[in-house]
Amino acid sequence: MKFDIITLFPEMFSAIKEEGVISRALKNSIISIREWQLRDFSSNKYKNVDDKPYGGGAGMVMQVKPIRDCLTKIKELEPDTKVIYLSPQGEPLNQKLVEKLTKFDSLTLLCGRYEGVDERVIENDVDFEVSIGDYVISGGELASMVLIDAVSRRLDNVLGNKDSLNDSFADNLLDYPHYTRPESIDGESVPEVLLSGNQAKIDAWRQEQAMKKTKQKRPDILSS
Ligand code: SAM
Repeated sequence: MKFDIITLFPEMFSAIKEEGVISRALKNSIISIREWQLRDFSSNKYKNVDDKPYGGGAGMVMQVKPIRDCLTKIKELEPDTKVIYLSPQGEPLNQKLVEKLTKFDSLTLLCGRYEGVDERVIENDVDFEVSIGDYVISGGELASMVLIDAVSRRLDNVLGNKDSLNDSFADNLLDYPHYTRPESIDGESVPEVLLSGNQAKIDAWRQEQAMKKTKQKRPDILSS
């Protein structure tokens, strides 16, 4: 999976490129991450890529031309890329959408800043508008990193084992509870079934617990 990122803050991506699961996926060439500094596509000497909004009001708006010029360059390299604009107004990023995005070979992530991008970009140049939640953050970079992480960990050979199959939201359930050593601490013990060595019993207990947790915490996902 190739990720191309259009951003004013390319350095931010070192946060996922240098540590953990994503850095390993990069090292193993399962994914690639390439940042595009939008200012390189500015046509003025100050390298501005934003301007005042028509109609007045607060904030600045990211202009069409630098974004389109950058997309043209990316599409010369990745003609089939899908363009995603990270936006609080987008489709909520959930596990279903993550699974759908894993099917593409190339994703281009457009990171907004200020008041966001000129609406004509959203209407004509973007394939998916994706939100990481019903709140507003200052830029699309953190949202892009969330998306890259969620998508990458679902790609073959990124996780060392089949662990993500039991993760929350697989099969519309939350994950079952986990325990590790010691067996007892501060008078709190590990459920006995986990010490029984009977795998069938353990599996049944875990399934039951996953269902119980889901009913308690997120009944909405049972019917989704
Ligand atoms: N004026 C915009 C609005 O109210 O819809 C918010 C702009 S926000 C300050 C700047 C950028 O941060 C957006 O263009 C977008 O790329 C990103 N962003 C903010 N909240 C987001 C969210 N919940 N999900 C994804 N991206 C978000």
